[in-house]
Amino acid sequence: MERVKEQLVELGSLGRKNGSRVKSYEELSADKGLLRLEGNEFSRASKDYLVEKMKEAGLKVRFDRVGNIFGRKEGKDPGMKAVMSGSHLDSVKNGGQFDGPLGVVGALEAVRVLSEEGFEHSRPVEVAVFVGEEGSAFERGLIGSEVLTGGISYDEVLNLANSDGELLKNVLSDYRGEFLMDLGEVEYFLELHPEQGPVLDTEDIPVGIVESITGLCWLRVVIEGEENHAGTTPMKMRKDALVRAADMVTFVHGKALEMAEKTGGSFVATVGKIEVHPSATNIIPGRVELGIDIRDINSDNIDVFIAAVNEKAAWLGRAPGIKTKSELLINKPPSLCSKEVVETIERAARELGLAARKMSSGAAHDAQNLAGKVKTAMIFVPSMNGISHSPWEWTSWEAVEKGVNVLTRAIKELAR
Ligand SMILES: [Zn+2]
Repeated sequence: MERVKEQLVELGSLGRKNGSRVKSYEELSADKGLLRLEGNEFSRASKDYLVEKMKEAGLKVRFDRVGNIFGRKEGKDPGMKAVMSGSHLDSVKNGGQFDGPLGVVGALEAVRVLSEEGFEHSRPVEVAVFVGEEGSAFERGLIGSEVLTGGISYDEVLNLANSDGELLKNVLSDYRGEFLMDLGEVEYFLELHPEQGPVLDTEDIPVGIVESITGLCWLRVVIEGEENHAGTTPMKMRKDALVRAADMVTFVHGKALEMAEKTGGSFVATVGKIEVHPSATNIIPGRVELGIDIRDINSDNIDVFIAAVNEKAAWLGRAPGIKTKSELLINKPPSLCSKEVVETIERAARELGLAARKMSSGAAHDAQNLAGKVKTAMIFVPSMNGISHSPWEWTSWEAVEKGVNVLTRAIKELAR
């Protein structure tokens, strides 16, 4: 376990202010979040560090064309399909040290433990590091796993630009190779990850077994009225876009509450973004853009909700001088995990004497892309106070150890 802790702390220093190494929750602070966006100097340093550790563990390391990294440990039977496990090393802006690295370091530790035990597994084991999971550097997330599963082409990914206008293929030129991972050669995928929500921490349960990963949909609603003088335009003659937008925000919240109540609780919707034009205190807002995030494990519920938002937008657009438009930006269906892998994880937790609960994931993960192609499930460990994507993100070392032990045992059984 010391090895896991050391690696997570070391990786956690790459991209943190002054390179400080954080070993306990008490050492966190608001200005010490991680800034390890895909492709920046710290992201590259984290890859160097991990590749060195993979080689130390005797893995054969390969880079694919877009910078996904695979470390392979052969099994006894070269004809058998692999067990793959891993996650990502990139962070959000001002993130924490467990989101991503836990799944990578955990998978590597599992392989090392199997080797040290002299355990002879039939299947090969692949430790995977997916490129650009967070979508904080390039314009979209989950790109490394998406390219593997055919949702986006290698060439498209190579030509994605980050916010400085640099192309991925250039930023990662030293971390790309010619290897092509064929998921037809992979039987199982497991990802260990912090929950990023409050359920396990609140219920004091050390292990979450993810049965489904939420579907995700983004809508952009644009409301246009008329920009005008805040002093000279009488109240009755205004075409205020923000007032209509406020109505939409309230509608989304109220309707989501109703859906969650009616459908069992996993439904959520958020207006997380409002852009007001021209955004000046003395001007009546002429144009407002809303960003709406909608998630559930049931795609019918998402469809019902989108229809309701569209209807509401159309209704708002019937007011004199107001025009509305609703646009679907992202629509990722929910992913179901493999019953076989879920049961394997359940058994592993039970044999280790750890309480576990099944749950769904409200956050997006590389595993959701893999789930469409190979038998997949995830293991969650508690996020302290349910906090994530924040400098206050933390998972206790005891929880990390339990999660890694469950992962190791599950990989052992599946690779047997
Ligand atoms: Zn993550």
